[in-house]
Amino acid sequence: MARPSVVIVGGGIAGLAAAWELTGADRGPDAGTPRVELIESADRVGGSLGTVDFADRVIDTGPDGFLARRPEATELIRELGRADQLEPVAASGASIWLRGELDEIPPGLALGVPTSSAAVRAVHGLSWRARLAARRDELVPRRLVVGDDASIGAIVRTKLGAEIAYRFVEPMVGGIQAGRIDELSARALFPSLLEAARSGGSLMRALAARSPSPTSSPPSGPVAPAPLFASLEGGVGSLVTTLATTLRARGVVVRTATRVTALRATARDEHPWAVDTDDTTTPAHALILAVPGAVAGELLQAYHPDLAALRTITSAGAAMVTVCVARDAVRLPARGTGVLIPLATPWNDQESMMVTALTFLDRKWPRLAREDTVILRAHVGRSDDARWSALDDAALIERVTDEMTRVLPGFPPIRDALVSRFPAGLPQYRVGHLNLVAAARAGAPRGVLLAGNAYDGVGIPASIGSGRRAARELLASLASREANDRGTYW
Ligand SMILES: Cc1cc2nc3c(=O)[nH]c(=O)nc-3n(C[C@H](O)[C@H](O)[C@H](O)COP(=O)(O)OP(=O)(O)OC[C@H]3O[C@@H](n4cnc5c(N)ncnc54)[C@H](O)[C@@H]3O)c2cc1C
Repeated sequence: MARPSVVIVGGGIAGLAAAWELTGADRGPDAGTPRVELIESADRVGGSLGTVDFADRVIDTGPDGFLARRPEATELIRELGRADQLEPVAASGASIWLRGELDEIPPGLALGVPTSSAAVRAVHGLSWRARLAARRDELVPRRLVVGDDASIGAIVRTKLGAEIAYRFVEPMVGGIQAGRIDELSARALFPSLLEAARSGGSLMRALAARSPSPTSSPPSGPVAPAPLFASLEGGVGSLVTTLATTLRARGVVVRTATRVTALRATARDEHPWAVDTDDTTTPAHALILAVPGAVAGELLQAYHPDLAALRTITSAGAAMVTVCVARDAVRLPARGTGVLIPLATPWNDQESMMVTALTFLDRKWPRLAREDTVILRAHVGRSDDARWSALDDAALIERVTDEMTRVLPGFPPIRDALVSRFPAGLPQYRVGHLNLVAAARAGAPRGVLLAGNAYDGVGIPASIGSGRRAARELLASLASREANDRGTYW
């Protein structure tokens, strides 16, 4: 029987991780390894991940680190032989810009939600109304009935009031997803919040009971707790270069600048699928779709209505402006890796601020620190704010540095700047997301798997895990078909 042939559509980190798993992971390929072709529409693989030379450093153009307490990214890095190049984050904490001042974000939060009225009192920029709302939640909590799913916003707003929801929680939770808490699914993104709301009493007390207490994990043993975030020497984006080089050496056909335009079921046992691009057709036994949900929905809409529904998973656009300034001229908060700016913070009479967060990159990653300069990154863009996309690079840099000057008084003239744009970078997990994904997977034709950050969690570790799981599932199906020796795979 011929070697099975698998096409992976999409060469972001999920597609690359799927190809790694299909070709034997750290064991390498063997006689049973399928033929793998990975097709990517951009002119390079990596999706949101990438690196560039900037201001005498190699920096990430996209994500600059990953959650290291999840195993998937560190495991892959270890398998690729780069464990000694893992770099733990060097600082923690952040500030929030409230009522024209910077407030250090206190401890005692669960993913941005306060777990006690003391935590709310510690934020000077929150008003007495917010303090009262927090105390009320501890003493006479508001009633809220939640069903299978609810928005993060509906839970926090009902239980803790609008100010805590929009001024405090939204910049943190919504900021990570570039979405609005009133739309984002608690079940998909913050299950402990949904459980806490279901428990009926005080939201903050229920969340506190579900969050690991800072004093309950004793640093007494010889093993230091794993760092929360990590990066990689050469940038986390360098992971895609290592993967692509290794995959090509293993015989994976990696095609870039090639968009998949259609997936056709052929009704042929030998190659049940045909993958079309503008000028080629690749026959395949099986497919892994590691593209944005809306693209998967377009390509698969003919096969099941629940697959067509994937088109509703839209992605928020975002951009990042990285600037380099003289070290001795800039005054940063004493501690922390950055600043959050709540939505609707006024910029002038007509407009709100565009920047949603600032990151002090060289505080996070010591390899980027230099004696004479610092580099900072401003984040813009949300699911309902695409103003950045109407500005060219020069205008965006000007606007962003003007806003930085307000938040960091005395901000000096920039020496260098770089704009990275992600027109559809962050999938929005709206209320009901997990049901939508489960239905789509159940409706997928045999041999078609969905992977990537549209489904199983946003972020590098989740995307790697999703790609590898899809590949393992496919390998298991191929093996069981082969064992049946029916001469066909599906
Ligand atoms: C601005 C920003 C900052 C982020 N910061 C962090 C961070 O600090 N830490 C973290 O862990 N995560 C971060 N993330 C999230 C993380 O980058 C993503 O979750 C992850 O990279 C998604 O990988 P993926 O492979 O699932 O999707 P993608 O990277 O989106 O890859 C999908 C690929 O499919 C390709 N494609 C689309 N259509 C077609 C087609 N028709 N044919 C062929 N190919 C196609 C696309 O070009 C793309 O390369 C950030 C994301 C953004 C946008």
